[in-house]
Amino acid sequence: MKINCPFCKQETEYVYNIDKYRIVRCKNCATLFCENMPSTEEIKAYYDGFKHGGINLSNKYKIISNAYKDWFKSFNLPKDAKMLDIGGGGGFFSCCFEKFAFGKATYIDIDPVSCKFAQSLNISEVILGDVNDIKEKSDKKYDFIYSRHVIEHLVNPTKIIDSAIDLLNPKGIFILQFPNGQSFELLASKKFLNNRIEVLKKSNKNFSLKDICGFIFSKNTGNDLYPPRHLWAISKKGIKTYLANKNDIEFTIETKSIRDKIYSPYYKNTHDYSRIVMFLLEKIHGGNHLICKIIKK
Ligand SMILES: [Zn+2]
Repeated sequence: MKINCPFCKQETEYVYNIDKYRIVRCKNCATLFCENMPSTEEIKAYYDGFKHGGINLSNKYKIISNAYKDWFKSFNLPKDAKMLDIGGGGGFFSCCFEKFAFGKATYIDIDPVSCKFAQSLNISEVILGDVNDIKEKSDKKYDFIYSRHVIEHLVNPTKIIDSAIDLLNPKGIFILQFPNGQSFELLASKKFLNNRIEVLKKSNKNFSLKDICGFIFSKNTGNDLYPPRHLWAISKKGIKTYLANKNDIEFTIETKSIRDKIYSPYYKNTHDYSRIVMFLLEKIHGGNHLICKIIKK
């Protein structure tokens, strides 16, 4: 049975395989995803000890900085605000929020290694658990929720979006960040491009190099789709359609470059050639990050 796109509810079509995963694409919004999702066991095994985003102290000082203090400040949160950090990885955003006295943070992550690390940062509340259950696990509402590159890893990304919106206080803000499913920006890296060609070649024996290039350089591409890690390549049109159907929120959506100082804290400057190509590729379908700012009415 064919699965419809959960973002815009329209039909999908098979496009290619990545290993054993059959990748389908929404005929309307061009969101790509795995038709056969990995099992809960496979996902759990994959994330046990997964050191998300590089958990180390040098990264800590990249985030616990005046730049992020200003970023939090820009949201005009109420005094003693409550923050929820969904899939918080190293916990640095929660830590920064508390360090600059914006309020108290609740952190949740599925990886026990990450949680242990987050606890060492003395964050008010650290929950080891599946972010899918956040609504059941949380007994309060929040003024600020951040989910940074999490939903593309989940079997059911719309569930967590719905839960986060439900958990917002009136006027609460949810910053939802995930890869722009249509961005070409990462292709500036030769390593990334070669890897993508290899993956598609290995998984689709009948593909010619022309077919592969067609997929990589078409608007409906999903270049950042890597199951069992990235299960989704969500398009701007897809998320926009999904959010537009909710009447208890207002929202804006923008794309940001992989070179953006706030949304890519761990990005390392590459050599000039790559930077110029990135700049040009970003102009085509936007930068690698999609940033949704969702405000509860
Ligand atoms: Zn769609």
